[in-house]
Amino acid sequence: MTPLNPQTVLETHEVTNQPDGRGDLDLWADDKILRHYAGIMGADQDDLAPYGHILGREQTRDAGRIANRVLPELQIFDRSGRRIDEVTFHPAYHQLMNIGLTAGYAARPWEEKSGGHATHAAMVILQNQVEPGVSCPMTMSYAAIPALKANPDIAAEWVPRVMSRKYDPASKPASQKSGATIGMAMTEKQGGSDVRANSTVATRDGENYRLRGHKWFCSAPMCDAFLTLAQAKDGLTCFLVPRWKPDGSRNTLQVMRLKDKLGNKANASSEIEYHDTFAWRLGDEGKGVKTIVQMVHHTRLDTAMAPAGLMRAALSEAHWWVLGRSAFQRRLIDQPLMQSVLADLVLEYEASVAVGMRVAKAFDGTSEKDRAFARIAVALAKFTSNKRCPNFVYEAMEILGGVGYVEESPMPMLYREAPLNSIWEGSGNIICLDIQRTLAREPLAVEALHDEINLSLGADRRFDQAVKDFNTRWPHGAPESEARWFASRLGLILEAAVLLRHAPEDVADAFIATRIAGERGDVLGAISLGNPRAIIERIS
Ligand SMILES: Cc1cc2nc3c(=O)[nH]c(=O)nc-3n(C[C@H](O)[C@H](O)[C@H](O)COP(=O)(O)OP(=O)(O)OC[C@H]3O[C@@H](n4cnc5c(N)ncnc54)[C@H](O)[C@@H]3O)c2cc1C
Repeated sequence: MTPLNPQTVLETHEVTNQPDGRGDLDLWADDKILRHYAGIMGADQDDLAPYGHILGREQTRDAGRIANRVLPELQIFDRSGRRIDEVTFHPAYHQLMNIGLTAGYAARPWEEKSGGHATHAAMVILQNQVEPGVSCPMTMSYAAIPALKANPDIAAEWVPRVMSRKYDPASKPASQKSGATIGMAMTEKQGGSDVRANSTVATRDGENYRLRGHKWFCSAPMCDAFLTLAQAKDGLTCFLVPRWKPDGSRNTLQVMRLKDKLGNKANASSEIEYHDTFAWRLGDEGKGVKTIVQMVHHTRLDTAMAPAGLMRAALSEAHWWVLGRSAFQRRLIDQPLMQSVLADLVLEYEASVAVGMRVAKAFDGTSEKDRAFARIAVALAKFTSNKRCPNFVYEAMEILGGVGYVEESPMPMLYREAPLNSIWEGSGNIICLDIQRTLAREPLAVEALHDEINLSLGADRRFDQAVKDFNTRWPHGAPESEARWFASRLGLILEAAVLLRHAPEDVADAFIATRIAGERGDVLGAISLGNPRAIIERIS
């Protein structure tokens, strides 16, 4: 918390030219850009306003900082040497989980009211500004729902628990808890992207199965159950592994160690082993990828949105700094070169939010075409916003000068987090190859994407030319070696198309001038804009 009345006149000097503490913020009310696109895309302000308000409070932001500094601890055994495989967290972690789940982070998209995915997507942006680690179990819980439905009996029992809007951290059977969370364990040592190489074996045991093998990454091992893949008699199959067996005993899911990660510190990512571990089957034997892909599709939405949250937090901090700091007798905000950097960052953020929220709207859609658009566009959004995020956070950090590199500011946490969402749920190359596959196999996805882009034709000749050039360059998709080039160009075109329809004219014009028409150097801020203030005003 900001200390009360700190002394500014010290024995050797007076403290000047340092912005006042930030105090309470309101992450929803203060974010014109997010409110704009969330509103257009059907998100529910009644859920978002209180969430943004509570997350922005200084006390909540402090909890985020503490949850990242006081790390989770693995307790394999109790004091008598009996096996428990539990992870303990600082109360700040539980506070943040409680805020998110009671706000409907995991449940809202599946409730009866409209706009659930758009609301959820905006929540991801808000949450990631404060503490990204808790997003992992909350996102997996949200995304698990369609895969759980592959087994109606399991769904009847588990879906209401996950949708309870309650957080219950107790380590006991889910049937005795007020709410449950779900994790995911796919990745093994020999191959993460290529899950068909999974070596964990599933053996039938009556109605259910016993699993034997390992998982190299299993984030949030304190979840109540895990979607997992294993090789059954008829091939790779999806299972749900509960932490507790139906008879009330601990399941033989062993947590071997916690990962010592670059960032994402509050989240206890682990390595686990299955020792003839009890599991229920979800979907048919041999159809594991088809079943779990339902979950992956939804986690991809969150990994497309999370970078926007990290960017917003970094941008907001940089903006606060330039308003309160001067150099060479002028406030930083009034320096033309600083305005170029800030305006460029605003364009990056607005483009990510615009496309992210547009994709979320497609997740809420009910037509086949909505679904096809969601499949292709979520991959494009994930690729584009994640490739942008690390460099963005670094530039925002530099705006703070030296203090941006110090742990008392949120910048180091944001910087460590910035590369992560690109790695999981399909690393960059995998996403680009997925885009090629979807375009080759799903004519409806091609049509939906073309329709979305074509809606903006005629509004700007530079945009029209870019679309024409793109279609001439790649009339039928790209060879593998050009899949990144293809995805990054198409991602920008999609962003420009959405901005042309929904952004203020200054913003769309500047985005197209600098990103589509090529009037830009190869670092952020290397642009020339007639009126950067009109763009910076978007974050005022
Ligand atoms: C913090 C953290 C938490 C995680 N939590 C979980 C979790 O809870 N559950 C879970 O299951 N997993 C989890 N993961 C694992 C994550 O999903 C994998 O690391 C990811 O899927 C990549 O798999 P891999 O590490 O085996 O890399 P690989 O699959 O070996 O890929 C390595 C590189 O090769 C590229 N590549 C692969 N194939 C091709 C190709 N055909 N052409 C060109 N390039 C290619 C990839 O894009 C990647 O850049 C977590 C990872 C991290 C970092």
